[in-house]
Amino acid sequence: PPIIELCHVDKYFGPFQALTDINFAVRQGERVVVCGPSGSGKSTMIRCINRLEEHDAGTITVDGILLGDDTKDIRAVRQDVGMVFQQFNLFPHLTVLENLTIGPIRVRKMDKAAAEALGRKYLDRVHIPEQADKFPSQLSGGQQQRVAIARSLCMEPKIMLFDEPTSALDPEMISEVLEAMVELANSGMTMVCVTHEMGFARRVADKMVFMEAGRIVETAPPGEFFTAP
Ligand code: ADP
Ligand code: ADP
Repeated sequence: PPIIELCHVDKYFGPFQALTDINFAVRQGERVVVCGPSGSGKSTMIRCINRLEEHDAGTITVDGILLGDDTKDIRAVRQDVGMVFQQFNLFPHLTVLENLTIGPIRVRKMDKAAAEALGRKYLDRVHIPEQADKFPSQLSGGQQQRVAIARSLCMEPKIMLFDEPTSALDPEMISEVLEAMVELANSGMTMVCVTHEMGFARRVADKMVFMEAGRIVETAPPGEFFTAP
């Protein structure tokens, strides 16, 4: 069975229907890129997957958990699903390493030494081991976003969601973040990425999903998607 499945999902903000009859499945290890114009519901769709938003109709299943009202389930889903946002959302008063260890210590109840070892491992993965003791404000945007990716990975999620992770970056920093995402994809991580970076999509996507006005209007393997008709 798919690790993520949305069936007939609708989502409203007041009277405004942001998602209409969304049907979407992701298999374990699959890399999906979601694209479409601004305001088409991409962000809302992936926020529904980790329960940052609640859907109004249809069903969403994540790693066998049917997303309902049970807070226990929501906690379980949040541990399964890591998310990286456009804004890095790092704690400014904590060092890079402290940003990475706070989740493992508080949520996963790891001891400090084990959490620091884990933090350093993932800081290595995103190629900035030397930044451990700096504060976020001392890092470039690209480095901060790589810290944000490492921070999610420290929770050892089964799925990673990316919501326009390079949109707030200066152009020269985009490639280093995309490279970290490509490496993550190559490691076998299940990923759903909202991005306009078509070069990235071409390299890693198993499936492209195109949204328009709250609906999925096309799903295709990237080969078909990028071939002009
Ligand atoms: P995208 O990620 O494709 O740019 P979004 O999912 O952010 O689109 O937004 C889809 C639509 O839902 C937009 O019209 C947006 O203004 C609206 N929307 C998103 N979040 C809210 C909210 N919290 N309240 C009201 N409208 C919202
Ligand atoms: P994104 O496309 O990444 O969601 P937005 O700027 O559209 O970025 O949204 C940022 C935040 O504002 C989100 O939490 C979203 O839910 C909220 N938001 C977006 N559109 C509206 C809206 N029309 N009314 C109220 N909140 C909104």
